[in-house]
Amino acid sequence: MTSTKKKAAKSASTSSETAGTAKKAVLSAEEITEIREALQARLLELRDEYAEAVDGISEMQKERLSDSAGDDQVDSGSKTVEREQEISLANSIRDRMIQVERALERLEEGDYGTCERCGTPIPAARLAAFPSATLCVNCKSLEERR
Ligand SMILES: [Zn+2]
Repeated sequence: MTSTKKKAAKSASTSSETAGTAKKAVLSAEEITEIREALQARLLELRDEYAEAVDGISEMQKERLSDSAGDDQVDSGSKTVEREQEISLANSIRDRMIQVERALERLEEGDYGTCERCGTPIPAARLAAFPSATLCVNCKSLEERR
């Protein structure tokens, strides 16, 4: 007898999770706080990475300016490649920062967890793996194909 009671109590407590068929993902204040903290921590990490990448670029630029006189072609060529890689790294870090900032904005606006493009709720598993995701998997793959 008591076991059925327990079961009922358990299903009641998990019903909020299974109500994922609702149009909008409803997050508890606790979940929002958790996600916000995770996103803010990520943003700080990215800012550090970005600062490092930018430092690397300006360091390379300095080197280039100081020893470009009488530099041999091969050496300056490989330095250019290195610098381009550093710049594209910095750009991709900046893109990720923008992405995280956007996710934070959507969190404040209460739109977090729905696709920016089509409005479909983004699966919780995807958000757990990519808290900064603002597009569903379908729209994301469309965007990447551009
Ligand atoms: Zn979508």
